[in-house]
Amino acid sequence: MANPTDITLIGAGPVGSLLALALAQRGLNVEVFERRHDMRRHTISAGRSINLAVSARGLHALHKVGLDDAVLAQTVPMFGRSLHALDGTTRVLRYGRDDSEHINSMSRGGLNQLLMTEAEKTGRVQFHFRQRLQAVDLATRTLTLVDEYAGTQRDLVAPVVIGTDGSASVLRAALVAQAGAEVSESLLSAGYKELTMPALRHRMGDPFADGKSIGHFAMYPNALHIWPRGRFMLIALANPDGTFTCTLFLPHSAGPDPSFADLTDDASVEAFFARWFPDFVALVPDLLTQFRQAPLGQMVTVKAAPWTSGAYALCGDAAHAIVPFFGQGMNAGFEDVDVLTDLLDAAPQPTDWTDLLGRFGAARKPNTDAIADLAVENFIEMRDKVADPAFLVQRAVEAELDKRLAGRYRSRYQLVAFTRVPYRVALEAGAIQAEVLAAVCAGKASAAEVDLDAAEAAMREKLLPYLAAHGL
Ligand SMILES: Cc1cc2nc3c(=O)[nH]c(=O)nc-3n(C[C@H](O)[C@H](O)[C@H](O)COP(=O)(O)OP(=O)(O)OC[C@H]3O[C@@H](n4cnc5c(N)ncnc54)[C@H](O)[C@@H]3O)c2cc1C
Repeated sequence: MANPTDITLIGAGPVGSLLALALAQRGLNVEVFERRHDMRRHTISAGRSINLAVSARGLHALHKVGLDDAVLAQTVPMFGRSLHALDGTTRVLRYGRDDSEHINSMSRGGLNQLLMTEAEKTGRVQFHFRQRLQAVDLATRTLTLVDEYAGTQRDLVAPVVIGTDGSASVLRAALVAQAGAEVSESLLSAGYKELTMPALRHRMGDPFADGKSIGHFAMYPNALHIWPRGRFMLIALANPDGTFTCTLFLPHSAGPDPSFADLTDDASVEAFFARWFPDFVALVPDLLTQFRQAPLGQMVTVKAAPWTSGAYALCGDAAHAIVPFFGQGMNAGFEDVDVLTDLLDAAPQPTDWTDLLGRFGAARKPNTDAIADLAVENFIEMRDKVADPAFLVQRAVEAELDKRLAGRYRSRYQLVAFTRVPYRVALEAGAIQAEVLAAVCAGKASAAEVDLDAAEAAMREKLLPYLAAHGL
């Protein structure tokens, strides 16, 4: 790089790559150290080729770097949840008011590669692959980097460093060890395995109500498929090539419910899928082989404070890894980039990075804590409540309220996925809604039995003023 480096990033995941691009677009020279190979030249290892749901917050950040249209061109829209009951029947629950409110299934690797390539095109970003951050000395502002090709290590003095090195961040560990930061890491009791449902070789008719052909997809592509089974679930998101990326979420340890610990051989795996997901088995011919080969993933919620020490800061999963059940981990990381660059644009020059990064962490922390809690709650909603009649009554009442309140009602899901109100506001609005809905729906078997006038009045009194105070 001809000019001296202004900012050093650790980790070229989606957040590091987007941040590099956004900083470069502001004239800053950025170096990124990434421990893995360049994924544009090496195949991603099996079981790690996940797809992600990109929604309003992520799209807004992508829009600001000029890439929202390019990303949307590679996505499959998902308008709701397609729930698969044990008897094989399905029903779709819409996410938003209409089809305009949808989330988008996108290959994580594809998005990452696009961001890296666009960052490089600026001429201001240099990625160094197979370079692992091993240690940090905050006092001397020195990074110890290991060259994974040569097996050598070197020290690099770097004045401004942002750790986008993911949930097991080395920079975060340094903030804890040397700067008194506090961190809580709670591992979810469930793990996950990814499986791929192949595309069909021939077109088939649409088994769903709308009568549209679904081409080469084995299931309706424009929904997030869920097989909710109480303490565990299976989900599937479509890819543009006709495949579905499917994820089984199951407790790690043996207990009253099925767990990964029980699935010790082909016979137990076969029996488990036949018992709980019979319609799925028919669509994945090499299920047993895939299951055997898929690595068992863990999910962690990380809350850290503070995120900064001087001009060394955390961003993305490094600062706030969350469980994936609201489809917001990367969206939240992209929103970090959005907030950070807004602060940068408004800051006097030359930039006081210690001040700016301190304000960035303080602004984001309450909101990333909120989405962390929402994501854990949504696990329970997806695996359990979506199949619960009481939950369905509440959703039907929400749909009625949406009509009565002429678009001013927004569910918690809509606030998180389709608006950019702070996550903290979505959490608090969700608590108000839950209280009102629980009161009006108690003991009711259908929305027709609910006193909708009372529900409307309570929402007008409690929810709408709160939303209006936050610009909605
Ligand atoms: C099953 C699953 C489903 C998900 N679904 C969604 C979804 O639908 N929507 C959504 O928004 N989010 C989703 N997420 C979350 C999303 O994947 C993460 O939030 C996102 O990848 C975080 O990006 P990041 O760049 O901060 O961290 P990462 O993606 O973890 O990237 C960190 C990078 O840093 C590198 N690195 C790590 N340590 C070092 C080191 N010491 N030195 C150098 N480099 C290092 C890594 O190799 C990696 O490239 C999901 C996650 C999982 C597990």
